[in-house]
Amino acid sequence: MKAAFIKEHGDLDKVQIGEVDVPQVGPNEVLIETKFGALNHLDLFVIRGWPGLTLSMPHVIGADGSGIIKEVGSEISTLSQGDHVTINPGLSCGKCNMCLSGQQVLCKQFSILGENKWGTFAQYVKIPEINVLKIPKDYPFDKAAAAPLTFLTAWRMLTTQGKIKHDDFVFIHGAGGGVSSAAIQIAKYLGAKVIATTSTVEKIEKAKELGADHVINYKEMKDYTKFVYTELTNKQGIDIVIDNVGQATFQTSIQLLRPGGRLITCGVTSGPFTKINVTNIFWKHLEIKGSTMANQGEFREVMQLVLAGKLHPVIDKIYTLEKVKESEQYLSEGNQFGKVLIEVS
Ligand SMILES: [Zn+2]
Repeated sequence: MKAAFIKEHGDLDKVQIGEVDVPQVGPNEVLIETKFGALNHLDLFVIRGWPGLTLSMPHVIGADGSGIIKEVGSEISTLSQGDHVTINPGLSCGKCNMCLSGQQVLCKQFSILGENKWGTFAQYVKIPEINVLKIPKDYPFDKAAAAPLTFLTAWRMLTTQGKIKHDDFVFIHGAGGGVSSAAIQIAKYLGAKVIATTSTVEKIEKAKELGADHVINYKEMKDYTKFVYTELTNKQGIDIVIDNVGQATFQTSIQLLRPGGRLITCGVTSGPFTKINVTNIFWKHLEIKGSTMANQGEFREVMQLVLAGKLHPVIDKIYTLEKVKESEQYLSEGNQFGKVLIEVS
């Protein structure tokens, strides 16, 4: 089958398009004929590699995807050949106490599709039954591939971790990112007031279309903490900050929060090390929580809203499988608004 893979770690020039074997499904797995894949920053990290990541090569990349079931394992009764499906890219052992109690993200073997298992940028992908979600036959495959990773991540951050309530002030950095554009919609759907940042006039308009109440151009207004406090939150401060930027924004996030506020972090696109004023944390009784991916239950909750048309995956650009390298380069430059997709077939 045709696939995008690496044979060694390095820069984007290590990504190859070529033929690899079609995966063999086990009794509890299905083989999906991929229609669309979607890019995530994880792809760039996997291509580069990190200490401790040992992959058997070649390795097929891609975490998000949608398609049609081609083959079902012998033990499977809930899915059939021909079903249209999307994928939860969060993989866990399914046997430990955390998995059995529905806390799959806390499984010691938790990983993401395309990280150490072959991913979606291929004509076929093999997926465990529990990670497959049937979609209506009239739901578009491109949107079905664009939604899972970012919407499930944003959903857990705001609901389980952030304990979002009606009328909360939610602050979201970098509105154009996949998780951020999902978080804007989810926060609005749940009745919050959303303040976001971004860097261009065009992106400000798009963030407002998604429902953001106020969008700050962080390139023009370098220090916006006072403005947010006095002008936008009526001297209340922010209830929940969604931060996947890290180094460049973490101290600002802490400053923005009201007493008792929550900072939820799920990524470090600007780098992992930063200086923070710890005094702010205890003086304001802040909660700082990590979050990555989501449990199977959370995935199904948010996807119900997506498939019902209440939340809308935002697609920025679609590339063909042959152009994976160019698409990853585009993602790494950070100029997109929403998801970058790969049309596989
Ligand atoms: Zn487990």
